[in-house]
This record gives sequence, C-alpha cells and structure tokens, in this order.
Amino acid sequence: MKIPMLDVAAQHAPVQDELRAAFDRVMTHGQFILGPEVASFEKAIAAYVGCEHAIGVSSGTDALLVALMALDVGPGDEVVTTPFSFFATGGCIARLGAKPVFVDIEEGSFNLDPKLVAAAITERTKAIVPVHLFGQSADVEALRAHGLPIVEDAAQALGASSAAGNVGTLGVLGCFSFFPSKNLGCFGDGGLVTTNDAALAEKVRILRAHGSKPKYFHAVVGGNFRLDALQAAILSVKLPLLDGWHEGRRANAERYDALFAEAKLPTERLRTPPRLHEGHVYNQYVIRTDRRDALQTHLNEAGIATAIYYPLPLHLQGCFSELGYAEGDLPISERAAKEVLALPVYPELGEDGLRYVADTVIRFLAD
Ligand SMILES: *Cc1c(COP(=O)(O)O)cnc(C)c1O
Repeated sequence: MKIPMLDVAAQHAPVQDELRAAFDRVMTHGQFILGPEVASFEKAIAAYVGCEHAIGVSSGTDALLVALMALDVGPGDEVVTTPFSFFATGGCIARLGAKPVFVDIEEGSFNLDPKLVAAAITERTKAIVPVHLFGQSADVEALRAHGLPIVEDAAQALGASSAAGNVGTLGVLGCFSFFPSKNLGCFGDGGLVTTNDAALAEKVRILRAHGSKPKYFHAVVGGNFRLDALQAAILSVKLPLLDGWHEGRRANAERYDALFAEAKLPTERLRTPPRLHEGHVYNQYVIRTDRRDALQTHLNEAGIATAIYYPLPLHLQGCFSELGYAEGDLPISERAAKEVLALPVYPELGEDGLRYVADTVIRFLAD
C-alpha cells in the first residue's frame, strides 16, 4: 500500500467540472488581476472567517509581511514569536529589519507559551505573532493582556476556533495561506489577510498594490502582493467543501488517537497530539516519539509518507546566528524538533489506509 501525505487528485475529483468552469470563466472574461473573482472570494471568505475585511494576497508569507508592514514594523523594533514554526514566521520579521524575539512553546500544545511572553517584552516590542500550529488555536486571549498588536499566523488553521473565537479574528490582523498543503489550497501560491479594523484593511489593500492610491501615486512603499484572479476563482469553488474536509481530518485524528491509545505504549515511545479545542482542524496530525528518525525510515520503506515539522527551530537557524541564541535556550521547542513526526491525516485517507499507518507505527514502536 502507498500512502501519500496528501492526495490532491482525490480532493479535486468531486469538483473537477466546477474547477474547469472557473478556469474557463476567467479565461473568457480576461480580468486576471484582482477584479470580480478576487472581490467575490474575499467576501465569501470574510463571512467564513467571521471578520469584517479579508484581503487576498500572493502567499501566506506575503500575508505576514504585509500585515507587519501595515503595523509599521521596521528597524529598531522587536517582534515576539515562536521558534517552532515554518520559516516565514520569523523570516518576515527579519526582512523588515526588525528583530525576531523567540519565546518557547507550551509543552502541551506546540504553540507559543503565553506565560513566558511577559519576560520577552521590552519598550521596543512592536507586535506579537502567535502561530496556530498544525491547525490548533494558540492562546491569543492570554497574549492580549500585554496590550500589543497581535498578528496571528493562521497559515495552518483556516476554520479553526477556540472558546475565544475563530482564528483570524483574535488579533488585529490574521494571516492565512493557500499553499497546496494547507487545508484550503489553491493551484500554486496564495494567501489572505483578515482584520476587523477598517483603517488597517485599507492600508493592507494599498500595500498589496505597490502602496499606490490612486494608481501611480505612492504615499508609501508597498509591493506586488496580489492574489491571482485565477487562484481566487479556484478557491471559491473549494471553500464550500472546507468544513467537510475538516470533519474528515478530525475523524481521522480521533481514529488514530483511539488506535494508539489501545496500543498502550509508554509515553516516551508514543505521544498523540494534544487536542485542547473542539475546533482543531488538524492541518497536521503530529505524534512524538523517542525513535523518530528510525520510525520515519521504517514508514518510508512501508510506503507511508511522513514529514518532520520542524527539524530545526528558528532560533537555531544559521541565518539568525547573529541574534545570539544557543542550543538549550528554548528547550521545549528543541526537544519537539527531535521527536515530532506528521502522519497522513488528509480527509480522503480512508479506513484501510489509516489502519495500515497506525498498525505499522504501533508494530514498529512496540518492538
Ligand atoms: C505555510 C506557512 C506559512 C507560509 O505560507 P506560504 O503560503 O507558503 O507562503 C507561514 N506560516 C506558517 C505557520 C505556515 O505553515
């Protein structure tokens, strides 16, 4: 049996005709840049997220970049964030000339530990960027106590929620990605910024098009951060299916949880992912084990794809060496980086595939 990490062909099969029709529509009307496709997608996804304003952008990375630009983050500023994330979270802070200040994650959630944030805040702190890692909401409510703007990196968590509300509405700005491996993926790169603040929304829209308003007049320096009309048309077809896919992912995660619990392995050998909120959307199902690398090799030989998110925390990346972090500084993230393994959890996986993955994991770890 061959099990991939994701099966986009299976995902698109039920809507192939609608996707082709969307492509034909865009080809025929020829409005490839912004225009009605982007506007109608923005309206639909704002309603889905439950926010006032949604601005389609070129990627999740650019969503973060433009959100931080809208807050005037720049040289001399510090931005507090998690080291246990995709590179873009820290990279965008550094690209603006600001200093990423990495704060460790919670043992129980893979997300920024709000209890540790206070000690990292200085007069220079301009914003806090929590990440809703793997599709589970970070504790944004606890971070609000600092009175600083919060930019949510919700790239992996479209549709996720906690008791505090939907991700993307919990901070001043929310950033999403439509990279193909996210729960709602387009046919390439795409992203979104959400906000309930009309002035910030306007600023993001202006920055998205080279800072121009009106056209060819630039009061600020922006970039080309636009979402393609074609991607918006594709996303508009897929968005109505997203909640169903989330249900499939949650059902798969619960099935794994049950099978792994039955195996009664020692905790250091196998830990299932924490589920703190009903509204977890399981962009990834990430187990922890002290035999991670050997398990990954074994699964690979058995035809099962897996992934390591993330093998090296951001504070230890070569490009950030000047920040002066050393191994041991953020121990919870560092240990997680050595133990995590993402298993296939995509909604089309099916019972046979899931059982095969679970049995192969259990048999190897029980040895
Ligand atoms: C995917 C991802 C991004 C970047 O999104 P792209 O669309 O690939 O640029 C940023 N942060 C996190 C946590 C991500 O998972």
